[in-house]
Amino acid sequence: MFEQIERVPGDAILGLIEAFKKDTNPQKVDLGVGVYRDAQGNTPVMRAVKEAEALLLKNETTKTYIGSHGAPSYGEVILPMVLGENSPVLEAGRASATQSPGGTGALRLAADFIATQLPGRGIWVSDPTWPNHHGIFTAAGITLHKYPYVDAENRLDFAGMLAAVKQIPEGDVIVLHACCHNPTGFDLSQEQWQQVLEVVRERNLLPLIDFAYQGFGEGLDEDAFGVRLMAEQLDEVIITSSCSKNFGIYCERTGCLIMVAKNAEQMENVRSQVAIVARENYSNPPAHGGAIVSEILHNAELAAMWREELTEMRDRINTLRRDFVEALKPYGLDQKYACVAEQRGMFSYTGLTPQQVDRLRDEFGIYMVRSGRANVAGFSHENLPYLAKAIAAVN
Ligand code: PLP
Repeated sequence: MFEQIERVPGDAILGLIEAFKKDTNPQKVDLGVGVYRDAQGNTPVMRAVKEAEALLLKNETTKTYIGSHGAPSYGEVILPMVLGENSPVLEAGRASATQSPGGTGALRLAADFIATQLPGRGIWVSDPTWPNHHGIFTAAGITLHKYPYVDAENRLDFAGMLAAVKQIPEGDVIVLHACCHNPTGFDLSQEQWQQVLEVVRERNLLPLIDFAYQGFGEGLDEDAFGVRLMAEQLDEVIITSSCSKNFGIYCERTGCLIMVAKNAEQMENVRSQVAIVARENYSNPPAHGGAIVSEILHNAELAAMWREELTEMRDRINTLRRDFVEALKPYGLDQKYACVAEQRGMFSYTGLTPQQVDRLRDEFGIYMVRSGRANVAGFSHENLPYLAKAIAAVN
């Protein structure tokens, strides 16, 4: 039977990693991968995580199942981190947390919940969006549509987005990136969130907010503005949160599906269905990542250490964004690429064309995806002059 099975091309980013490894150019630069890098090009374990793991190892007494919703102690810390310490949503008991295998797992839970409990609804994603959104929602059997997000001049197309959202059929689901939009780096301002809220309310849409980069944009609370606004102002919201980036625990697969309902009773009904979806996918989530997060956030000293480390990562990225534009000044290209300093998060839609990306790879050993998306954490003060010179050469 397997004879008829065709091979599909591998993930473009994995191909890029392979090509980068083989490249012998000593000045080569990797701007492709989707993880944070420090000034030495490493993705280290955070100190707070190491300390929490030491405590866990010492105090762990069992490896029994943690249940379909995961560890209650994890939900206890994720809900206030995402919704706010004194959230009226939490006070009203309207929110439920389900620990998931990463943000991806939370998205798949949300997708299966929508497919089984809200059948027939379409789902709307930004164009472009994180490519896995397409895979996850279509795999669950949901019809996917797009709304515009970036214009031909590589700017946030908010007018185009809003006009399209006004046409979404009533009751459909709209996927929004809470902050640090992947792949573009273009985020909504607070006024723009307010405007989206009004249209979502008018059209009776169900927002699904993907929150994969809390703390990587402006700050833990600042980045949650849109999430908290929607959760407080609307009866029903779905949030998918990830601890992969902000705790640097990518391989521990740690995320959370947060379901916000009109009241505590409806929340419990929804929660019971989410447990079934989780059970049918993987039964219980992996425990270790959630235990790390819970250990850190329940311990004032570790929590302070973690916040400091997260701030360091965020500041490094935002400084590199400004320094990149500065490095292009001598070539008269600072205006052309000014958007890189305005965008937020790990990624930037630089505006480089696929042809320019190819030349940067072939002539300079600079690797990024052909859409022109660069991982800003791949910039460094050592490689910025080289990057600027190469970009000038292909312009
Ligand atoms: N959503 C977006 C927009 C992402 O960029 C990512 C990761 O790259 C995820 C979700 C999933 O993250 P995780 O690694 O926690 O599954």
